Amino acid sequence: MDCIFCKIVERQAPAEIIYEDDAVIAFLDTRPMNFGHTLVIPKCHCENFLELPNNSIPNIFGIAQKVAFAVQDSLQCSGFNLVVNNGKDAGQSVFHFHVHIIPRFSTDSFRFDLNFKRYNPEEIIEIGKKIRNHI
Ligand code: 5GP
Ligand code: ZN
Repeated sequence: MDCIFCKIVERQAPAEIIYEDDAVIAFLDTRPMNFGHTLVIPKCHCENFLELPNNSIPNIFGIAQKVAFAVQDSLQCSGFNLVVNNGKDAGQSVFHFHVHIIPRFSTDSFRFDLNFKRYNPEEIIEIGKKIRNHI
């Protein structure tokens, strides 16, 4: 399998590593939205959020919080975005699950230019019901 993040885990590709333990590794994104943009990944390959072993989730997000504290404390950003792109249509380009931690500053100019939809009263009930039925 030709996965760049697996190569980073195996030290077959370089990375600026921020944190590592038996199961998780975090490293700087080489094309950052802001300097300090960090990726947190499980060491074993799984493609996306839905493929993560359920019992690994608390650990990965626990480490993501630890790294987010370090990013914020060290870079003095005033906030950060915690992002998971899941699937090609959602913007995922590397198909090894990863959490982005993107430091944000009052002076940066990123805006998500979203065209928010509106529900009518029946639609919100119908969609709520649909999803609830699959929980
Ligand atoms: P996605 O679009 O899948 O959510 O995010 C993938 C991220 O991985 C991108 O932000 C991209 O810049 C980063 N990336 C892609 N290839 C490499 C690489 O070889 N090394 C590092 N450190 N980051 C990478
Ligand atoms: Zn991989």
